[in-house]
Amino acid sequence: MAQTQQDVLKASKEQCIFCKIISGDISAAKIYEDDKVFAFLDINPVNAGHTLVVPKDHYIVLPQLPDDLAMHLIKVVKYLSGAIFEMTGAHGINIYQNNGAAAGQEVPHVHFHIIPRRQDDNAMSPWNRSKIDPEQLKQIAEEMGKNLKPISSSTVKLSSNTSVSKKTSKPKRKGKPVKVKRRNSTNSP
Ligand code: AMP
Ligand code: ZN
Repeated sequence: MAQTQQDVLKASKEQCIFCKIISGDISAAKIYEDDKVFAFLDINPVNAGHTLVVPKDHYIVLPQLPDDLAMHLIKVVKYLSGAIFEMTGAHGINIYQNNGAAAGQEVPHVHFHIIPRRQDDNAMSPWNRSKIDPEQLKQIAEEMGKNLKPISSSTVKLSSNTSVSKKTSKPKRKGKPVKVKRRNSTNSP
């Protein structure tokens, strides 16, 4: 990782409330812990059982995670979401993950929300969606597709000293960022 990126992470870690929870400096309602991942109840739950799942190491956004840690984190999210389904008797579960302030991230330490839902609980606002011309949709898909390469799962190993092959792990963005023009918006989720 580049030095500047390490400096940013270090500065952000010093202030990080989730790092303080993981180290035990701040108390939290822990429900799960292993050597890499920690899970605790959200202090402002959408519904009872609303859980936050975080890596013990400090990273700000999901794309920064090493692949093996990302895979383990997702595995824990999967395990806990099943357990929370059963324990809360939820009718549904939302997995929610914000990256960056613009996306609503308040705590700059990667985390997944596991949110148990009840039929018609109206607990979360619907997304503000837009209609799009099918031709424009195709063009956007073409632009995006050009920058993406298949990641072969066989190149990913779960031990900490191996990683995805360099060729496929980090597709570089070429050309201009893709923009979606907003047209008539609807409120359906
Ligand atoms: P996000 O908006 O995705 O960054 O979510 C951050 C979440 O962290 C919010 O839902 C907060 O309620 C939750 N949160 C903040 N501080 C604490 C804390 N000390 N213990 C538990 N949850 C917290
Ligand atoms: Zn942190």
